[in-house]
Amino acid sequence: MLTGRELRAFRKNLLAWFRQYQRDLPWRRDKDPYRVWLSEIMLQQTRVAAVIPYYERFLGRFPTITALAEAREPEVLRFWAGLGYYSRARNLQHAAQRIVGKYEGKFPNREVDVLALPGIGAYTSAAILSIAFNQRHAVLDGNVARVLARLFAVRGDLRESKRWQSLQKNADELLDANSPGDWNQAMMEVGAMVCTPRAPQCLLCPVAKFCQARKLGIQDQLPEKRTKHVPVRVTLAAAVFVDKQGRTLLMPPPLPSSTKAAADHVPTLVSKMWHFPTIASSANPASELRGHLQTIFPKEKDSEWNLHVLDTVRHCVTYRKIAIYPFRLHVAKLPRFSGSRMVAIDNLASLPISSLTRKIARAALDFPKS
Ligand code: SF4
Repeated sequence: MLTGRELRAFRKNLLAWFRQYQRDLPWRRDKDPYRVWLSEIMLQQTRVAAVIPYYERFLGRFPTITALAEAREPEVLRFWAGLGYYSRARNLQHAAQRIVGKYEGKFPNREVDVLALPGIGAYTSAAILSIAFNQRHAVLDGNVARVLARLFAVRGDLRESKRWQSLQKNADELLDANSPGDWNQAMMEVGAMVCTPRAPQCLLCPVAKFCQARKLGIQDQLPEKRTKHVPVRVTLAAAVFVDKQGRTLLMPPPLPSSTKAAADHVPTLVSKMWHFPTIASSANPASELRGHLQTIFPKEKDSEWNLHVLDTVRHCVTYRKIAIYPFRLHVAKLPRFSGSRMVAIDNLASLPISSLTRKIARAALDFPKS
């Protein structure tokens, strides 16, 4: 760690650099917690340039927490469409509803309350509380962790629990208690603009003289590569019902209040948006799917469903490699399930669906009608 004098100089250099060179970003023009929160959620896994137009459009339609809380979910998802990771939008709205219900629409300013909101973890909470409320919380995400790993020449997988905790301790010690919001943004900015993942620009770095990695000439080697997840293979079977009018049946996303048992009728990989009836398969996809359909449509017990196997669909979600066996079922009348919808199979875009569901629909449409 740095000596007292070095620490003061470090903070002074970084803050002066940030105040002079920071990018003019729309969410930096205002310290309103809703805006800070929205930008932080949109920026997760998404580049700044891609976020800007979405951020402005979203705020144009949902200018306040109350407006977001009162909107219909499909509309919120429509304004999010293209950004991906839709659970972010859903959590944002659930949190807005809780803020309206519990805090009269005013964003809470106690850490314990902020962390209890859906979709908000330690990083986002620290960012909102420091930027919007000037509270002393240091942010730590992959970007800041990279800067810290280089500053203190930290080796090994940064995401390993103990190492991450030690980086959080470093971040807490560096935090400028007088300007925590600017400080956190300065750390993020130096990571985004100067101490970049590849080829860090040490000659332009405001804190280069304090950097251990640069001193040792190893800045290009840090952070070290993460330990890789072993890929997990998942097999699913999905039912694509099609009636004479070319309509199919989609199951609803589970409500946030659904019990585990209620949500268990679909694998979580497909259950977060509208989806075809789906089951995880371990041995025989056709018979497992048939059994599943009899369970969720008990009134159709005697129906003679012919399952036409379609081309296997392949999909990847992080380290999971998914093989889906879709089956097309021609029926005179679509079965009913509480909350399900009938939609034209060739126009599923009227509901929020995942790319996995889209691929299954494509396989069903490519199947020659018997
Ligand atoms: Fe990153 Fe280089 Fe600055 Fe060190 S000197 S913090 S490696 S940009």
